[in-house]
Amino acid sequence: MTERIVHILPEQVASQIAAGEVVERPASAVKELIENSLDAGARNLAIEIERGGLGLISVTDDGCGMNREDAILSLRRHATSKIRSASDLVAIRTLGFRGEALASIASVAKMRLQTRRASDPHGVELAIDAGNIEEERACGIAGGTRVEVRELFFNTPARLKFMKTAATEQGAIAEVVQRLALANHAIAFRLAADGRELFAYPRANSPLERVRQALGGKLASQMLQFALARNGLRVSGLATMSQESFATPRMIFTFVNGRAVRDKLLSRAVSNAYQTLMPRGRHPAVVLFLDLRHDEVDVNVHPMKTEVRFKNSGAVFEVVYHALRDRLSNQSEAVSNPEVFTPTNFDSTPVSQLPQAQAERPLMLVADSPSPAARVEQRPLNLGYQRATEPSSINGISSLREAAVPMYSTLKILGQIFAGYIALEGDEGLLLVDQHAAHERVTFEKLRAQIRDGGIRVQAMLTPATIEMSPARAAHIEAALPELRAMGFDLEPFGPSTLLLKGTPAVFGAGGGARLLSDMLDSMGENGFRASGEGALEEWLKQLACHGSVRVGRALEEREIRELLAELDRTQFKTNCPHGRPVHINFARGQIERMFRR
Ligand code: ADP
Ligand code: MG
Repeated sequence: MTERIVHILPEQVASQIAAGEVVERPASAVKELIENSLDAGARNLAIEIERGGLGLISVTDDGCGMNREDAILSLRRHATSKIRSASDLVAIRTLGFRGEALASIASVAKMRLQTRRASDPHGVELAIDAGNIEEERACGIAGGTRVEVRELFFNTPARLKFMKTAATEQGAIAEVVQRLALANHAIAFRLAADGRELFAYPRANSPLERVRQALGGKLASQMLQFALARNGLRVSGLATMSQESFATPRMIFTFVNGRAVRDKLLSRAVSNAYQTLMPRGRHPAVVLFLDLRHDEVDVNVHPMKTEVRFKNSGAVFEVVYHALRDRLSNQSEAVSNPEVFTPTNFDSTPVSQLPQAQAERPLMLVADSPSPAARVEQRPLNLGYQRATEPSSINGISSLREAAVPMYSTLKILGQIFAGYIALEGDEGLLLVDQHAAHERVTFEKLRAQIRDGGIRVQAMLTPATIEMSPARAAHIEAALPELRAMGFDLEPFGPSTLLLKGTPAVFGAGGGARLLSDMLDSMGENGFRASGEGALEEWLKQLACHGSVRVGRALEEREIRELLAELDRTQFKTNCPHGRPVHINFARGQIERMFRR
């Protein structure tokens, strides 16, 4: 017999290993502690940190607190008040449920837990060192709980080595607190670092008010409110209009039943909704709440509970995409229909009473036409409300007006400048419209509508034209004939290096002749436009719209300007060209007056 080598790890070591999954860095400890406070029904939360959380993390709440026995038990692994049996996992209603956080944090730090149920005569204070309770005494605190964590990872040097600078860890903590604050607008949050207050958000009346506190009044004023309920799924939130964009997707916040999650499906639905409205590599700011029945989503997927799995992912994608897309398709409603927004406009049916989602439907290409439900539920920002709460901010007012997308055709035409931009005067300021970008979007949407109706319409030419191809490119061009035909060019090979053009896309009228085709051919790469796959057709359409639209450099007559503006107003997504560049830039009146020191 050889020596036995398998044995069970001591509890303390097992906890440290488990801790590795739950507490990756100080920010994850902060998240777990705050989630406990939220589950305890806290209304006010104060978070203090030192040295990026590695010196100290303390979270103080005014939640339900614990009695002495519960407090002692709460430090053990698998100790929880939130679920009782495996069947409870099917519909989790709390942020926590694994019973691991306190035990994990306690095992890799020095912890002090003070807690009191309001009805108890006094509270209890426990001092814990690497998971062991070293000291217990009665303490006089108000109802609630305070957890202090010092010297995180002091006994796991391997983990400590991986910590970034205090500044980086502090940044990660601030982000976590902000995210949880966005999800819980009715709860006050205060974060202080090394004795200095980083932010303090008083209890807010609406998600919008919290967004204003957390992300700033300027950004909030550039956001559209959206809401859509369908198939037992409810989506609501705020999203920046398409003129605004960021270099990172970190301004996209998604919450599922109040839980901050990172989810590929949700991210994709958001970015698809902004398709052709953002330049490549740019991202919107979005605060999105998805609510659904607790048994429609599995939150027990990841130790840090930041990932979820949906039972009916097709329906989730569709409702998120449409909620945003339909709202973005007509951003001028913010001005033309200044309906009052109050929090009560939001459907407040408890999630548990939502009807069950319908059976899974296959994920399909979603059409762009606004759904009737979305129409009714679109809620523009309320201009008056905005001003009332931010009386001192000149910025708040002017940028709110900047944010509103005008009806271009109602503005006074001042003329064309640099043979490329149309100057317009409105109440709010001076507007410059990029004539090419504007025309490109109009044309693109017309082409897209024709594709939806069965194909791009072709106009036959009275006399067919012959197009010479350079021998070097003939093979590429011939390979692209199916796409070129789909784009409305009626083309036939005519000898070894010649094509016969018999019809052109009708949208362009007389302007869409041989010249347009040769522009397309010139800009085509070896494989057409961006090889294949999703978005390939869209790329062809963008190219066609681009080549067929009026260029910067062409003088426009007033009649042409009027026509273009009227068409633009009838067009969806009119704020950006199909490549995502802005159609107009607004010089706010106040901005101009300030420049003149008025
Ligand atoms: P979980 O949150 O998954 O239940 P934790 O280890 O985070 O596990 O917490 C264990 C238990 O301790 C909780 O279920 C809860 O009953 C209690 N608890 C933790 N933090 C607080 C708090 N701030 N206020 C009241 N009770 C708390
Ligand atoms: Mg917890």
